[in-house]
Amino acid sequence: MLTDKRPEWLKGKLPSGPWFDEVQENVEKNNLHTVCSSAQCPNMGECWSRGTATLMILGNICTRACSFCAIQTGRPTELDIGEPARVAESVRRMNLKHCVITSVARDDLKDGGASVWAATVRAIRNKNPNTAVEILTADFRGRQEHLDIVLDAEPDIFNHNLETVKRLQRPIRRTARYDRSLWCLRHAGSRGFVTKSGLMLGIGEEKEEIKEVMQDILDAGVKILTIGQYLSPTPKHAPIDRWVTPEEFDEWKEYGLEIGFDFVESGPLVRSSYHADEQSAKFSAR
Ligand code: SF4
Ligand code: SF4
Repeated sequence: MLTDKRPEWLKGKLPSGPWFDEVQENVEKNNLHTVCSSAQCPNMGECWSRGTATLMILGNICTRACSFCAIQTGRPTELDIGEPARVAESVRRMNLKHCVITSVARDDLKDGGASVWAATVRAIRNKNPNTAVEILTADFRGRQEHLDIVLDAEPDIFNHNLETVKRLQRPIRRTARYDRSLWCLRHAGSRGFVTKSGLMLGIGEEKEEIKEVMQDILDAGVKILTIGQYLSPTPKHAPIDRWVTPEEFDEWKEYGLEIGFDFVESGPLVRSSYHADEQSAKFSAR
C-alpha cells in the first residue's frame, strides 16, 4: 500500500515576504473565502507570497461531496449579496492583472448561482477594467440557460475541470457527469470563449485512460490543460494510488502539446489556478 509520505517534489514553498500577510489580511477583512485554504492547496506559500489567490464565491459550503475534495459539504448559508462588490474590491487591492474566481456547487439555488457569478464578473470588470477574469465553475447541472447567464458577463477564460478519467467519474465526482462536463466546455467554446480544463493524476487511472480523457477534452475545443498530482485531504477521502514523477508529468505535457493543446501546465503541484496569470498574456486581450 502507498504510504502518505510525500516525495520531496511535492513539498510546496514556505510563505515569505510581505505579500503573504497582505493577501491574508485582504481575504479576512473582506470576509471572503479562497479555494487555496478551503481545498488545502499545497501552493499557498508560493502563490500568496506572489500576491495571488483564488477567491471562492457563493460561500464555502458545497452542496456536492466529491470524494477527492477538501471543501466542506452541507447545507449552504444564505446568499451574501454584498459578495460581488467585495470580491471586486479585493481584486483591486491585490492589484491583479489576472484573477481566478471559483465557487462551490450550489445545486440548492434555482439558477445554480449563475446570477451571482455574472454579478461578480461584472463587478470585477467595472472596478478593474485591465484585469483578465478567469472563472472556474461547476456544471450548472447541464442547464444551458444558466451557463449562458454566466457567459453573458464575458469572462476572459472559462474553466471547468474534468478532474479524472471517464471510468472514475462516478466514484470520484459523484454528482457530476463526464459528458455533461464536456458539454459545458464545448458550449463555452462554441460561443467563442477560451476554455480550459484540468486533471488530477494518481487517483487510480490507467495511461490509456489519460490519453482518452485528454483527447475528449481537446475535441471539446479546449485550449489550455492543467495536470497535477492528486493529494488525498483526509483518510476519509479517495486514497492516493501512486506518486506520479516529475518526468511523467513532463511526458504528459509533451503529449498534450503534440495532440494539439495550445498550452499545457503539467507538474506535481499544478492546480487549475497555478501560474494562471502566465497563460493570460497568451489568451486574453487585456
Ligand atoms: Fe490558490 Fe491556485 Fe495558488 Fe493553489 S494554485 S494557492 S488554489 S492560487
Ligand atoms: Fe469540491 Fe467542487 Fe465537488 Fe463541491 S463540486 S465537492 S467544491 S470539487
